[in-house]
Amino acid sequence: MSPALVGGIAGGVAVLLIGLLSPARKCPDCGTALPKFRTPGNAKQAMLGGWTCPKCGIELDRKGRKRR
Ligand SMILES: [Zn+2]
Repeated sequence: MSPALVGGIAGGVAVLLIGLLSPARKCPDCGTALPKFRTPGNAKQAMLGGWTCPKCGIELDRKGRKRR
């Protein structure tokens, strides 16, 4: 296996673990539980993390805070 491949696998596992270990987030506005495995709503969310609340539509950062 090439070092790049090993690094890619290790990175993927780390991201998965972080996702599994982080507590469930709730929307600060309406209390809707946010999905653990989010689907990025746009390019910004894909890069920075975060959610768009499925109920009220506000944007949250990766720590579950409202993004301005
Ligand atoms: Zn909400």
